[in-house]
Amino acid sequence: MKLNERGLLIVISGPSGVGKGTVRKALFEMEGHDLVYSTSMTTRSPREGEIDGIDYYFVTKEEFEQRIKDDRFLEYAKFVGHYYGTPKDKVDEQMAIGKEVVLEIEVQGAAQVREKARDGVFIFIAPPNKEALYRRLLRRGTEGTKTIQKRMDKADREFPLAHKYDYIVVNDEVRNAADRIMAIIRAEHAKTERSIYKYREMLEVK
Ligand code: 5GP
Repeated sequence: MKLNERGLLIVISGPSGVGKGTVRKALFEMEGHDLVYSTSMTTRSPREGEIDGIDYYFVTKEEFEQRIKDDRFLEYAKFVGHYYGTPKDKVDEQMAIGKEVVLEIEVQGAAQVREKARDGVFIFIAPPNKEALYRRLLRRGTEGTKTIQKRMDKADREFPLAHKYDYIVVNDEVRNAADRIMAIIRAEHAKTERSIYKYREMLEVK
C-alpha cells in the first residue's frame, strides 16, 4: 500500500453471540495485513479473562456519559442495559497512516457509522441458523437465561437489518468466515474508484 493511501474503515457487525469476536480474532491472526482493532469502551463488567484496554476499556456509567457530552465517540449504543462505544480519536489517526481500522459493533452503532463514514465497508456476520446462535449463547455460559433470552430477542430485531450492509458473511466455520472477510477487504482495495489513480498513467485515463 502506498504511504499516502488511507486505510479502510471495516465495520463487522451482527447479532450478539454470532461469533463476531472470534471471527475478528481469526482475521487478525492471518498473515500480511495492515489491520488494527479499535478497542471499544463499555460500562458492562469484565467477563472472566477479559483485560482492560485490550478487550474493552471498562468505565463507569458516569465516565461514559461525560464522554458522550464531550463528543468523544464515533458511535455509541445502549445494549442490554449497558453502554458500548467507539472512541473517536484513534480511528481517524490510524486510517490516515494507511491502517485498516476494524470496528466490531452491534447494529445501532453500525447505522451511526454509516451516516458518518459512507465509504466504510459494512459486513454483517450471520449465524448459519437461529439454533446455532442460541447454542452459542448458552455455551458461552457467562449469562443467565434471562439475559440470553434478551440477546435472542434483540437478534430477532437485528436480522432484518442485514440488507443495509455491503456484505453478509455466514459464520459456519470461523476460519471460512475470516477468509471471506479478508477476500472482501482485498476486493475493496481493488475497486476501481479506490485504485485507478495509481494506474492512471499506464491506463492513460485522463
Ligand atoms: P458483549 O457484551 O457481548 O461484549 O457485547 C455486546 C454487543 O455490543 C456485541 O454485539 C458487540 O459487538 C457490541 N459492541 C462492542 N463494542 C461496541 C461498540 O463500541 N459500539 C457498539 N455500538 N457496539 C459494540
